[in-house]
Amino acid sequence: MLLEGRTAVISGAASARGIGRATAELFASHGARIAILDLDGHASQSVAQELPGSGHIGIQCDVSEEGSCQAAAQQAIEHFGRINILINNAGITQPLKTMEIRLANWAKVIDVNLTGVLLLSQAFIPHMVEQGGGSVACMSSVSAQRGGGIFGGPHYSAAKAGVLGLAKAMAREFGPAGIRFNCVTPGLIQTDITGGKLTDEMRADIIKGIPLARLGDAIDVARIYLFLASDLSSYVTGATIDVNGGMLIH
Ligand code: NAD
Repeated sequence: MLLEGRTAVISGAASARGIGRATAELFASHGARIAILDLDGHASQSVAQELPGSGHIGIQCDVSEEGSCQAAAQQAIEHFGRINILINNAGITQPLKTMEIRLANWAKVIDVNLTGVLLLSQAFIPHMVEQGGGSVACMSSVSAQRGGGIFGGPHYSAAKAGVLGLAKAMAREFGPAGIRFNCVTPGLIQTDITGGKLTDEMRADIIKGIPLARLGDAIDVARIYLFLASDLSSYVTGATIDVNGGMLIH
């Protein structure tokens, strides 16, 4: 039990096969009470009810809206009294090439993946400063490191690269307050974010470039979030942890 007595807020955790939900299940099985934040409030609540243990809550939140982040934070803090862990996991992708990206595509992908990390962090930082610390983990992607993953366009790469810089800067700024900020950079993880576009042929082709010879599962990323959320990583901040089966070794 690595998170006994802790509370964790996880954004983008309501989708059935997603990384956020797998993380919520793993954290709850390690003794944490969880706030699930996602676009659909009802879906968030039903996921919260299905988690192991008790006392979890689901809250409607659009991470790209400042007011929504502030309201969700207020509700979570009131419910639990204290928040120890924030997982900035929510994200979207669009399979577009550079010349296909319209300003609306750019704005949407940046707003959710990058601005969302800033807004939700801002909503919890004052509370974490006041309580003397916390752990924040942010979702980036191999796409940020190698200039494109498989499904995300250049705007997605840019947003996820922005997350790396933002998290490192926040790690530097809030280290003295005891708040750790770290990132995860997954390779291709089998969730619904690919929108069913991954054919068997594509899968076989991609696996040829992965030394561990398989795609990732949501639980592979959840275990890294667990490490970053727990005291196992008490002297780790500003770090980026690859979870890619060796797809990118650098
Ligand atoms: P997913 O689609 O299952 O989960 C994404 C979740 O984010 C969904 O529950 C969705 O409702 C939620 N969400 C979307 N927009 C939101 C918003 N504005 N506010 C709040 N919630 C919102 O996909 P996933 O693969 O589990 O993705 C989780 C994260 O992992 C994303 O940030 C994604 O970019 C990142 N990622 C995924 C992969 C992969 O291969 N699956 C690789 C690298 C990074």
